[in-house]
Amino acid sequence: MNMAQKLQPCPWCKAPAKLDQDFDTGWYVSCSLPRCPVLPISAGYKFAHMAVMAWNCCSHPEQLPGLMPVPTGRAGT
Ligand SMILES: [Zn+2]
Repeated sequence: MNMAQKLQPCPWCKAPAKLDQDFDTGWYVSCSLPRCPVLPISAGYKFAHMAVMAWNCCSHPEQLPGLMPVPTGRAGT
Protein backbone atom coordinates (compact mmCIF):
# COMPACT_ATOMS: atom_id res chain seq x y z
CA MET A 1 0.00 0.00 0.00
CA ASN A 2 2.96 2.30 -0.35
CA MET A 3 2.14 4.70 -3.13
CA ALA A 4 4.40 7.44 -1.85
CA GLN A 5 6.76 7.22 -4.79
CA LYS A 6 6.67 10.41 -6.73
CA LEU A 7 6.31 10.35 -10.48
CA GLN A 8 8.77 12.35 -12.50
CA PRO A 9 7.17 14.62 -15.07
CA CYS A 10 7.34 13.70 -18.73
CA PRO A 11 10.92 14.43 -19.86
CA TRP A 12 9.73 15.76 -23.20
CA CYS A 13 6.80 18.01 -22.47
CA LYS A 14 7.17 18.32 -18.68
CA ALA A 15 3.55 17.45 -18.14
CA PRO A 16 2.73 15.36 -15.08
CA ALA A 17 2.85 11.65 -15.61
CA LYS A 18 -0.08 9.49 -14.68
CA LEU A 19 -0.27 6.06 -13.16
CA ASP A 20 -2.90 3.81 -14.63
CA GLN A 21 -4.01 0.23 -14.56
CA ASP A 22 -5.15 -1.83 -17.47
CA PHE A 23 -6.76 -5.22 -17.19
CA ASP A 24 -4.34 -6.88 -19.61
CA THR A 25 -1.25 -4.77 -19.20
CA GLY A 26 -1.22 -4.17 -15.48
CA TRP A 27 0.13 -0.96 -13.96
CA TYR A 28 1.81 1.49 -16.25
CA VAL A 29 2.80 5.12 -16.32
CA SER A 30 2.30 7.42 -19.24
CA CYS A 31 2.40 11.07 -20.12
CA SER A 32 -0.85 12.83 -19.25
CA LEU A 33 -0.70 15.36 -22.05
CA PRO A 34 -2.57 14.20 -25.16
CA ARG A 35 -0.56 16.58 -27.34
CA CYS A 36 2.79 15.35 -26.05
CA PRO A 37 5.20 14.95 -28.99
CA VAL A 38 6.38 11.57 -27.73
CA LEU A 39 3.61 10.23 -25.48
CA PRO A 40 5.94 7.91 -23.61
CA ILE A 41 4.49 4.94 -21.82
CA SER A 42 6.18 2.48 -19.54
CA ALA A 43 5.84 -1.24 -19.79
CA GLY A 44 3.09 -2.91 -17.84
CA TYR A 45 3.84 -4.18 -14.34
CA LYS A 46 2.08 -6.27 -11.79
CA PHE A 47 2.53 -3.66 -9.07
CA ALA A 48 2.05 0.07 -9.20
CA HIS A 49 5.34 0.88 -7.51
CA MET A 50 7.25 -1.09 -10.14
CA ALA A 51 5.70 0.95 -12.90
CA VAL A 52 6.61 4.11 -11.00
CA MET A 53 10.19 2.93 -10.58
CA ALA A 54 10.47 2.03 -14.24
CA TRP A 55 9.08 5.37 -15.28
CA ASN A 56 11.31 7.38 -12.98
CA CYS A 57 14.37 5.45 -14.09
CA CYS A 58 13.64 5.60 -17.78
CA SER A 59 12.38 9.14 -17.84
CA HIS A 60 15.82 10.58 -17.10
CA PRO A 61 16.72 12.12 -20.46
CA GLU A 62 20.35 11.03 -20.24
CA GLN A 63 19.25 7.42 -20.10
CA LEU A 64 16.98 7.64 -23.06
CA PRO A 65 18.27 6.07 -26.22
CA GLY A 66 15.05 6.92 -27.97
CA LEU A 67 11.52 6.08 -27.14
CA MET A 68 10.44 4.17 -24.13
CA PRO A 69 9.39 0.59 -24.67
CA VAL A 70 5.80 0.18 -25.60
CA PRO A 71 3.91 -2.43 -23.63
CA THR A 72 3.53 -5.65 -25.49
CA GLY A 73 0.64 -6.77 -23.37
CA ARG A 74 2.34 -9.35 -21.23
CA ALA A 75 5.20 -7.61 -19.49
CA GLY A 76 5.89 -7.52 -15.80
CA THR A 77 7.47 -10.81 -14.95
ZN1 LIG B 1 4.81 14.25 -22.46
